[in-house]
Amino acid sequence: MKITIHRGTDQIGGCVTEYEHEGWRLFVDYGEELPGSPKTGELQVDGLTHGDLSKSALLITHYHGDHIGSITKLPEALPIYMGEVAREIQLVLSNHLKTVFPAHKEMVKLLQKVHTFKAGIDFTFGPFNIIPVTVDHSAFDAYAFRIEASGVSAYHTGDFRLHGFRSSNFFKMLEQYVGKVDYVVCEATNILRPNATSKKESALQRELESLFKEKKSTVVYLSSTNIDRLFSLYHAALKAGRPFYVDKYQKDIMDVVVNSKSMWTKSSLYRYGKYEPETLMYHQFDKNRFFVSDSFKEFLDKKGYVIIARSNERFEDLLEQIPGEKQKVLSMWNGYVKEGTEAYNENLANSLNDEYDYMHTSGHIDMKDLREFFHQLQPKAIIPIHTDSPDEFAKEFSDEWQVIRLYDGQSITLTSIYGVDLCGTKI
Ligand SMILES: [Zn+2]
Ligand SMILES: [Zn+2]
Repeated sequence: MKITIHRGTDQIGGCVTEYEHEGWRLFVDYGEELPGSPKTGELQVDGLTHGDLSKSALLITHYHGDHIGSITKLPEALPIYMGEVAREIQLVLSNHLKTVFPAHKEMVKLLQKVHTFKAGIDFTFGPFNIIPVTVDHSAFDAYAFRIEASGVSAYHTGDFRLHGFRSSNFFKMLEQYVGKVDYVVCEATNILRPNATSKKESALQRELESLFKEKKSTVVYLSSTNIDRLFSLYHAALKAGRPFYVDKYQKDIMDVVVNSKSMWTKSSLYRYGKYEPETLMYHQFDKNRFFVSDSFKEFLDKKGYVIIARSNERFEDLLEQIPGEKQKVLSMWNGYVKEGTEAYNENLANSLNDEYDYMHTSGHIDMKDLREFFHQLQPKAIIPIHTDSPDEFAKEFSDEWQVIRLYDGQSITLTSIYGVDLCGTKI
């Protein structure tokens, strides 16, 4: 089995990986490069962007733009596979954005023909046997893949973490579905961010609940598809006795999760409690505004609220009209509000206006947990991707493991015996 990292050896996002065996090609992820990353331009990959596609397929780990965002640029004949609930969430998101972004209109069309797989149920493609392994990440229904061909196995981690609500069963699941593998192709997002994951998602939820009890009126900004955080906020608001408000788009996303048959949705986290999230009503004559009646204002004044907002005019208008001394909370990566960076989001920064609580924890694994993870899988070698510093990663782990530092476009042959036929640099 040969592996080629077409992109993503030295940047977070935009990763495209190819596993090849006997002329069959299995690709993993085809997303966008993130703002602030080195721009490599449009990829030209035989058997993916052009050429013979009859022995090619693409697996999507999860719905974040840096993993799925460019699939509309691929030829129509290419079969694409992703998680069932992830596809539904992407559909709601793309339907929401399609009037503003033509690419999302294309995405809605493409999603109709995307194949889905189920957690733990293996399937084959040519000589490959693939087991999708469900992982905890800031995207819901996210996957890692165990990929095997001719007795050689690789575990492709996707984006994941071990400090979320759904992380506790992870090692048991690895034992059951993955066992030991020859290679790990591993995300290494947090190698240069040692403090990013100091907090567990459950600890963050307790802090949110305390805040909602203490402050009567809270407005939270987060990614609309960060499902675990969204439901965490909802239950924290319920426990604090605050009414919880979202707009229709956000409620549609929550409904997809609540009504889905994902293995996770048996958990009470993804069920509605005594009160369902309230949907903010649009103004009858002006769909760019929410309807704010006097009785609604009185109710908010009496009970307080937690509002899930996004930085746009409709929410700005709402916040101007409703009562209460509003405590704003940023519950996503704060790189978006750091002026002078390419990821800077001016609208979000303006909405927060420098007066906010930062309450967030990373969707990615930290290095301590990664080490434990490698101990379980016992790989012969690790290939870092989805990182801005593969060299630091190699330094961190080469005391115990062979780390193969590849460059974009470089290939190696993976073998089941120790060592690799390496056409590049080994650290
Ligand atoms: Zn990613
Ligand atoms: Zn992600």
